[in-house]
This record gives sequence, structure tokens and C-alpha cells, in this order.
Amino acid sequence: MKLSLVVPCYNEEAVISRFDDQVRAVLGGLAVEYELCYVDDGSADGTLPRLRELAQRHPSTTRYLSLSRNFGKEPAILAGLKAATGDAVIIMDADLQHPPELIGKMLGLHRLGHDQVIARRSRDGDKRLRTALSRFYYRAVNTWVDVELTDGVGDFRLLSRTAVDALVSLPEYNRFSKGLFSWIGFDTVTFDYRNAAREAGETKWRLSMLVNYGIDGLISFNCRPLRAAIYAGLSLASLATLYTLWVIGAAAVGGITAPGYVTLVAIIVGLGGLQMVMLGLIGEYIGRIYYESKRRPHFLVKEASATAPARPRSGG
Ligand code: UDP
Ligand code: MG
Repeated sequence: MKLSLVVPCYNEEAVISRFDDQVRAVLGGLAVEYELCYVDDGSADGTLPRLRELAQRHPSTTRYLSLSRNFGKEPAILAGLKAATGDAVIIMDADLQHPPELIGKMLGLHRLGHDQVIARRSRDGDKRLRTALSRFYYRAVNTWVDVELTDGVGDFRLLSRTAVDALVSLPEYNRFSKGLFSWIGFDTVTFDYRNAAREAGETKWRLSMLVNYGIDGLISFNCRPLRAAIYAGLSLASLATLYTLWVIGAAAVGGITAPGYVTLVAIIVGLGGLQMVMLGLIGEYIGRIYYESKRRPHFLVKEASATAPARPRSGG
């Protein structure tokens, strides 16, 4: 059995060599055939030269792809999954936040017949605000979206060949991989581990990116937000009807008075805002259709290690 490690790297020169050493030490102790598939996601620092060095030092077990620009973590992972040749694939961050010591445990669980072995992290190394927001978000998402997302469950997981083939066969351009992992299903098992702080370098996530990622998650899987918009519109229209009837009734009984300036302004501004949100929502779905209809590849490869047997030029 052969194990592939898929490692997306964006500006990770500070930590990549240390990562490589630690992972090899662990894999060496496991007596399993393995390959490391690094994907340089258009790094602007010395990540690519480091990867070339690693590939030279360990030619039979190292492969790397370098994408033509920074496409984002999701496309980088997809590139790695497409390039991986193993019977099982583990996706790991390059910053050592995913402890390499867990590889053995994941392999063990895979050998028991599980197609997805998920490592769920505690949030010890994270900022408190981010933790709180994440918790709230997952609670909201799970009431809205068909696929189940769990807090702390990320990309760190082992996938069987079957699961990898299923994932790679999903053609959509907008990839929200947390949801895709959950969507493909298969026999899944989850275990917990303590989160480690980043070894070096810094996180690429800013709050705005997290918010955008969150919106992606909400609308990537179904049209339920549009349905919610219909319900909101219906409720508001019913309320307006009731209110009109009440005003007419009151006028018939007590004559016409004309207060309510603030009420009017509040209603106009409030409804205007709501309409914009809903238009934005519709626009968001149309935008997705637009992107999907272009059928662009997910990523472009500018350089690949010589050892790579199948040299993917682009993601289909
Ligand atoms: N990453 C990537 N492309 C990007 C951003 C991140 O390949 O555009 C990689 C990064 O090099 C790291 C992993 O994705 O290996 C996780 O990134 P990061 O540590 O910044 O995220 P966090 O752990 O804070 O969620
Ligand atoms: Mg990290």
C-alpha cells in the first residue's frame, strides 16, 4: 500500500524544510511506501526553490507542482489530489499545525476500512474572537445547509483512493471543500487532537477572508437562502396587510391623524436594506452560474518535479 501526502504551500519557506524532516521521520517509522506531493500555490518567497531542493534530496519520494499564481488553498489541494498516486491520501498543512505523529493513527483507522479519517482539532492556538465566530457560524450553517459541517473539522484527513477519485470527479469551479468532503460521504470516522500553534510564518487568513469563506459555505450547496428570501418577503407582505387594515380601522373609528414620520422612515430604510441583501443574494447565485459556465480550469501548473509520472498541465 502506498500513502500520498498532499501539502499545499503558500509562502511557507520558513517552515517547509522542518515540515519535511518531521514528516519523513514519522513516515520512516511506519514502514509504509509513501510520496510527498507538495503544491506551491504561487508563493512569492523562497518556497519553490526549497521544494526543488527537497525533490533533489529525496527524488523517489518527493513530487511537487508549482501553480502559475496564487489560486487559493482549495485549488492547491485539488491539484495535489489529482497528482497523488497513493492508495490513500492525507491532506496536511505545511505549517506543522497538523501534527505528523497522527499519520500512524490515521493509517490504522484506514486499515480498519474507513474511507475518510478526519482529525478534528481543538481551537487552543486560535484567537478567541475567531473561535467564537466559528462556533456561531457552524451552528448557523448546519441549520441551513444540507451537508453537515463540524467545527474544528478542516482539511486534515485521510482519504481512500475511492474517496479521492470521487472528490476529483466533482467538476464545480467554486469548491468549498469542507462541504465537498461531507457531500461525498463514504465510511467516515473522526477523532480529536489538540491544535498546535503555527511553527513559523503567519496565517494567510484575514477576517474578511473568513467572512467570505463563510458566505461561500452558506450558499455553495443549495438554494435554501433564496427560499428564505421568499419567506421573508411573504411575512413582510402579510405584516403590511395587517398593519394597513389596522390603520384603516383606526381611521374609521377615530378619524385620521398623521403621526408616524419616524415609523415611515424606519420602514423605508429597513425594507430598502432587505431588498438589497436579497438582490445581492440572487446576484451571488447568478455570479456562480457565470463562473461555472466559463469552464475554466481550477489551476494552471507552471512547473512540476521531474519524478512526477503523470504531469498534469492543468486542472480540468
Ligand atoms: N495555503 C495555500 N494557498 C493559500 C493560502 C494557504 O496553499 O492561498 C496553504 C498554507 O501554505 C498552509 C495551509 O494552506 O499550508 C493552511 O494555511 P494557513 O496556515 O494560513 O491557514 P490556517 O491554519 O490559519 O487556517
Ligand atoms: Mg495554519
